[in-house]
Amino acid sequence: MKKIEPLYEGKAKKIWKTTDPNLLIAEFKDSLTAFDAQKKSSAKGKGALNCKISAYLFELLEKHGIKTHFVECISDNEMVIKKAQMIMIEVVVRNIATGSLTKRLGIPDGTVLPFALVEFYYKNDDLHDPLINDEHALILELVEHESELEELKRLGREINVVLKSFFDKAGLNLVDFKVEFGKDSEGNIILADEISPDSCRFWDKESGRKMDKDLFRHDLGDVKVAYAEVLQRIQKVIS
Ligand code: ADP
Ligand code: UDP
Repeated sequence: MKKIEPLYEGKAKKIWKTTDPNLLIAEFKDSLTAFDAQKKSSAKGKGALNCKISAYLFELLEKHGIKTHFVECISDNEMVIKKAQMIMIEVVVRNIATGSLTKRLGIPDGTVLPFALVEFYYKNDDLHDPLINDEHALILELVEHESELEELKRLGREINVVLKSFFDKAGLNLVDFKVEFGKDSEGNIILADEISPDSCRFWDKESGRKMDKDLFRHDLGDVKVAYAEVLQRIQKVIS
């Protein structure tokens, strides 16, 4: 299997076609964006950190029976992934209120939610990824059948159970995260994209220190230092 040509370049990753029609290569970039890409920067080595963190978390989830697109890492910042027909929904799971939830509903920042909240956002940059409900998703034909929405919610909750307990062992509170799913060549819904401090919020259990992209969003500290510490803590739990 060899890299052929770029298929798509996004804000955080470049996706390459390969000689195998069922496989792609995801190259994790050092660029950082926030607030609909209005704020832009980059941190050398961030791509490699997110690639490794994602790889560990995909492997962890596979061990718990969750199908993912992950195949293998082939360099510091590249992984082979199964090609998926992406479902244009961002599935956000929240354990603690912060970010857009606090602004939208007035729930005080840091409120522990009584249960994991699952939300759908329409993955559409032109519309700024709006929050949608099940009926919007069906009207927009983002899925083929209502049962797929139930599956996305179930998978979001299952992923949350696995990751929350894993990060607890790493001394981190998993505040919230965003995941994306796609369909593999057999039509199975699989977890795709990435799981990293770009797409999750982690708060240190003892100090409450933020160790994720909020450091960049709100100029609170060095992203690379925090992401490297997240990776180190993951490796410590695994070993
Ligand atoms: P964005 O498109 O939001 O700027 P990225 O820079 O992370 O995000 O680009 C990666 C793109 O690749 C996303 O559009 C994502 O939906 C897509 N993608 C992720 N995993 C797969 C996969 N397994 N098969 C096909 N496309 C994928
Ligand atoms: N998130 C993401 N990509 C997006 C929007 C959100 O990865 O396009 C993640 C974000 O990092 C956080 C969670 O989803 O972990 C919930 O984000 P929220 O809706 O609070 O977004 P905000 O407006 O605060 O970025």
